[in-house]
Amino acid sequence: MYHPGFSASFAMHGIIDLILGTDPKQRLRIKRSLMAANVFVACIGLQVYACLVGLMNRDEAQALSTLIVANIAFWYALLRSGLNLRCNDPALTLPQIMAALTIIVGAYATTGAAHGAVMMLLTLVLVFGIFNLKPQAARLASGYTVVLMGLAIAYKVNTDPGLYPLRLEFVHFALVVAIVPTISTLAAQLSSMRARLQTQKNELAHALTRIQILATRDELTGLVNRRHMIEVINQHQKRLQRSGHHRFCLALLDIDHFKRINDAHGHGVGDEVLRGFAQTAQQALRETDVLARWGGEEFLVLLNDTTQEQALAGLERIREAVTGTTISPSVPELKLTFSAGLTPYVDDEPLDQCVDRADRALYAAKAGGRNCTVVHEGPPRTIHALHRAGAERG
Ligand code: GH3
Ligand code: MG
Ligand code: MG
Repeated sequence: MYHPGFSASFAMHGIIDLILGTDPKQRLRIKRSLMAANVFVACIGLQVYACLVGLMNRDEAQALSTLIVANIAFWYALLRSGLNLRCNDPALTLPQIMAALTIIVGAYATTGAAHGAVMMLLTLVLVFGIFNLKPQAARLASGYTVVLMGLAIAYKVNTDPGLYPLRLEFVHFALVVAIVPTISTLAAQLSSMRARLQTQKNELAHALTRIQILATRDELTGLVNRRHMIEVINQHQKRLQRSGHHRFCLALLDIDHFKRINDAHGHGVGDEVLRGFAQTAQQALRETDVLARWGGEEFLVLLNDTTQEQALAGLERIREAVTGTTISPSVPELKLTFSAGLTPYVDDEPLDQCVDRADRALYAAKAGGRNCTVVHEGPPRTIHALHRAGAERG
């Protein structure tokens, strides 16, 4: 149904997009530039008034107004066309401020009896710089203002002493010297505060990433840790509950006679074996499977979207990879085997129950001679339904 309010607001958004563009950063830059332009437009109004009441010469007012309009149009065109993006500071803060300061000093020199009021605008323009200028740029803008005002005052005192008497101009110049550098000092302080905040923000983001890694990863192997693995499996349980498919299996893997490796070659080699095993197993699995360090030399695998047979094939792939790879570069001759207990996750059962079943299958694999995988098909079948695989390789 046609809704006039909706259509009007739609048209309004279209017009605003046309004026400001759609890129949020560019919009902010253009908005800021137009905000400053507002002040200039008010100045044009005041000049018209000054002309009417005889405070200002008409030709000079016209020239100044033209300069103001050209200045606004120039910066708008530059920002809206995107040419500003080629500059180091795409906001063009310093050049816009320098142009505005030049125009204001020009206004100071041409507004005759009203020129004292124009000084206020100098401070306003410098305030715009507070939010964006680097300390050096802020100092440059303030130095430029003092010098330019000094020159304008000296010129006017000499050429138009009636409207620009020395005793009054001395006060104006003293005020400029006192106020303008103070604003630039404040801008510099704010700028270094912004830089400090940015550094702190970066450090916090870095620390957060580090904490996330520490909280979810095992330090030695880089695998998912036990706590995070529980969360991952919980998510898979929920997905299965919702969809009714995406079935998964869990397998517990335990390195055979690992204690002997530690005893024979030292803890350092033991650690290297754990890392090597983790890496080899990870590479042998599919990308969607999740391998976690469950504790010590025990690993839990979540085999995703698989039947029991496919999962068993996945585990046997790991076995082949472990047999065919040098797990420990320090002891290349070291032969490593592992035992595994595999079980499918049964609808809605608690995680503990499923892991416990995998653990019992693993125990059976150890009891059955190691270097093999035992499958527990889940309730209502019992331990008698266990299947062995890979034992012949032992
Ligand atoms: P089985 O075939 O029955 O599994 O025998 P095993 O020797 O592998 O099992 P056991 O549970 O007796 O020994 C596991 C050893 O793993 C004992 C422990 O010192 C060692 N271990 C646990 N965590 C680490 C670790 O982070 N680094 C090293 N180097 N050893 C570890
Ligand atoms: Mg072991
Ligand atoms: Mg163990």
